[in-house]
Amino acid sequence: MDLRPAEVTSILKQEIESYQGETSMQSVGTVLSVGDGVARIYGLDDCMMNELLEFASGVRAVALNLEEDNVGCVLLGDATKVKEGDEVRSTGRIISVPTGPSLLGRVVNALGDPIDGKGPLAVTDDDLLPIEQPAASVVERQPVHEPVQTGIKAIDAMIPVGRGQRELIIGDRQTGKTALLIDTIISQKSTGGGDPSNPDQVLCVYVAVGQKQSTVVDLVRRLEQHNAMSYTIVVSASANDEASMQYLSCYAGTTMAERYRDEGRHVVIMYDDIYKQALAYRQVMLLLRRPPGREAFPGDVFNLHSRLLERSSKLADNAPEINPRYKAGGGSITALPVVETQEGDVSAYIPTNVISITDGQIFLETNLFNSGIRPAVNAGISVSRVGGAAQIPAMKKAAGGLRINLAQYRELAAFAQFGSDLDAATQATLTRGERLVEVLKQGQYAPVPVADQVMIIHVGTSGGIDAVPVKEVVSFEANFLQYMADSHPGVAKNIAATGKLSDEDKQTLEDSAALVRSQMGF
Ligand code: ATP
Ligand code: MG
Repeated sequence: MDLRPAEVTSILKQEIESYQGETSMQSVGTVLSVGDGVARIYGLDDCMMNELLEFASGVRAVALNLEEDNVGCVLLGDATKVKEGDEVRSTGRIISVPTGPSLLGRVVNALGDPIDGKGPLAVTDDDLLPIEQPAASVVERQPVHEPVQTGIKAIDAMIPVGRGQRELIIGDRQTGKTALLIDTIISQKSTGGGDPSNPDQVLCVYVAVGQKQSTVVDLVRRLEQHNAMSYTIVVSASANDEASMQYLSCYAGTTMAERYRDEGRHVVIMYDDIYKQALAYRQVMLLLRRPPGREAFPGDVFNLHSRLLERSSKLADNAPEINPRYKAGGGSITALPVVETQEGDVSAYIPTNVISITDGQIFLETNLFNSGIRPAVNAGISVSRVGGAAQIPAMKKAAGGLRINLAQYRELAAFAQFGSDLDAATQATLTRGERLVEVLKQGQYAPVPVADQVMIIHVGTSGGIDAVPVKEVVSFEANFLQYMADSHPGVAKNIAATGKLSDEDKQTLEDSAALVRSQMGF
């Protein structure tokens, strides 16, 4: 008699399943081969995509390639502990990370395990959420209409970011990309006093991908110094972590942010940087023998980033009625992904992909940075496709003038070197522009409240600084803001409360500027 093994197996399986009844069946497989952080496993027939697997040695892995006769997975731990022939169990759950309040103030890895030595997290099984979740659908969203104040004058005035927006930060190495993110985190303290239980407090998630561990330590220390860790989660997959951890960390961080968004809170998430994430993904995929495409990236590298960034959104107020997943409406996730370019080449593969996915980009330039214009934002080619709708009216007005003045200045600046025979109007434009460029300069760790930004920009665009020598603009700004805080605190309060700059307040600003100028002798 001819016995067909496949038939026998399927009959046996059916028998076992009916015998076991309600209890679930856990499948067990065997390691066929292992190396370079990936393993192939035989026997896990009902394995799911992205399912968490566990080796006998305790090492975990994620299933990524489901093939006819084996499963390809990436290891999430010490690969040296896994040997050929080892037993592997499927866990029946998609890879999940802990979420919730116990993560605030902590530094965790891509699996949500704390790595800051402050003990285990207080989480229950309900707090475990899958790292890949579907993005909010069209009806569950609403247009962006509230600002995220980064505290950076050049950005809040000219390239504003709104809650729920995705704004790319792009530039070469060492151009102050991370510095922008740190300042943005510190600036969020103004929303709720740094108290995470205050519903107005904007929370932050900083995902460090492929960075040096020392850089991450330094960043956390900075945030602690500025009391900004209380409302921040740091997810770190540093350069010495497995490539799989680096690529998964962005999704893990997003899940932690989504937990809060679904409760109606506002979150800013930063991916620093997703170019390194793409490199890690490329490494994993090449090892799993997926076919390489352009620049050897796998074909789905666009999807890698789009499915990540699509998860940032502004939820509709009635989202809970549409989908029970949402506990409250109106929450938002604002994404600030970072991409590092090589020699300012923004037309490379990954940068163009991400530019097309996001709602605008902030370009940072090496030559501006080196010439002392810091933050080195190139306002000419940076754009924000939705943020303008989220600016307060006073800022919108002040910034309109700023943009025109600076555009005129940039056009003429090239001629400035021919100095002498410039007509009066050209000279005036140059004078104004040079001073506005100074006004937009800003040191690190010193985000400026939006009301102060409006005041100094209004003075600048209305000619109140034209008489101040360029070198003195910075100290004029400091003196002026100090004087306003001491003598006319009502102006800043009015701007913060109403969002508008009244004619009376405008007059106060101009008179005060004149007074401070005369005190400084200009
Ligand atoms: P990398 O490519 O290494 O990640 P990056 O683009 O993130 O670099 P940062 O690390 O933020 O750049 O900044 C580079 C250096 O410039 C740091 O030493 C930082 O202190 C300094 N720097 C950044 N912004 C400013 C600023 N506004 N004023 C003065 N110094 C700054
Ligand atoms: Mg950096």
